[in-house]
Amino acid sequence: MQPSLSQTCALCEASLTGKNRSKEHIIPNAIGGRKKTAGFICNKCNNKRGERWDADLAKQLNWFSLVTGISRQHGAPPKQIVQTVEGDKYWLLSDGSFFPGGPPYSEEDINGSVKISITTKTIAEAKQHLKGISRKHPKFDVEKALNELEIKTDYLKSPLHVSLSLGGPDAGRSLVKTAYAFASACGVANSACNKALQYLLDDKLENIPFGLAYLSDLIQSRPKDKIFHCVSLHGDPGTKLLWSYIEYFGIFRVVVLLSDAYSGQIKNEVYSIDPIDGSSVGVKVKSDVTPEEFSRILSGNGLNHENYRAAADYALPIILQRAQSRNLDSVVRDGFDHAAKSLGIKEGEEIPKEKAAEFTALMMEKISPYIAHLVQSSHRSPP
Ligand SMILES: [Zn+2]
Repeated sequence: MQPSLSQTCALCEASLTGKNRSKEHIIPNAIGGRKKTAGFICNKCNNKRGERWDADLAKQLNWFSLVTGISRQHGAPPKQIVQTVEGDKYWLLSDGSFFPGGPPYSEEDINGSVKISITTKTIAEAKQHLKGISRKHPKFDVEKALNELEIKTDYLKSPLHVSLSLGGPDAGRSLVKTAYAFASACGVANSACNKALQYLLDDKLENIPFGLAYLSDLIQSRPKDKIFHCVSLHGDPGTKLLWSYIEYFGIFRVVVLLSDAYSGQIKNEVYSIDPIDGSSVGVKVKSDVTPEEFSRILSGNGLNHENYRAAADYALPIILQRAQSRNLDSVVRDGFDHAAKSLGIKEGEEIPKEKAAEFTALMMEKISPYIAHLVQSSHRSPP
């Protein structure tokens, strides 16, 4: 049954007609959300506030989006600076690869001659840089430099330092908006979510209607081999509570109280997806949270360190495994391209039998450093 669409915006009460009916992602698209709802907020509210809230959340979760390789409707997640535990900085790119984070261009005067170092991601970018240099330094031999260009592939030798926290008023509002949008999509009237509405409209941020939820695992028979994004909705006129559980990337877990005066039908709904391809995951959320656990979560005492660590121990290996297989894919692809190019085999052409051994050897030339890196990292003792 399709719920009837609300006629007014949940945030400003503008009427939702025609162009003003914004299609709002329930889980922000910036972290891989797909499903939209049309009867929730107006275009203006979506542009003015919703996008800012979601952008802050997406920024804080960007490492997870980059490493798992989520797909979004508009472009890839932006690259970001990451740091190894030894303090070296790298750019993490949306294909999961790393790129040295040092200055891309430097000039050094050595006894009257200029030493120029450039680091770029692609050959095309390097050529662009070299042309710029030749304009500035007419004696510079562009042709010679182009012939001497080399592509270097390095692998990180030290583990990365990753922040596992999520916070701040904008990201918090994004979470509440997601729960609210899901309730709206499930047919709950916008005006029935008093707690969420109060919080989203109040600049003073009193009565925060959500809290970290690590006192128990609210997912029933959690899948061991995949992480997911989920948002649920639970309404019970007996307790008068309407609330939602949200989990992102397996690690970030919160409960949002939408209303404490709920009088509608019993609700138990979950929307859950694999953030990588948007496919449905089908998890179940426990709706019978004890009143004691509920009030501890909402009073900001829902962080149990042991359970929090268990959440990280569950999600991080899955995420890193995913990162590793993406890397391996791209290394193999590069190896293949390298071998084909060296032997003059064009795209789509078959590899001649007599060249097969040479082809494999050339491929391995590119792949071996990665294998060596994998072997090294698996022998490194954990910090
Ligand atoms: Zn509005």
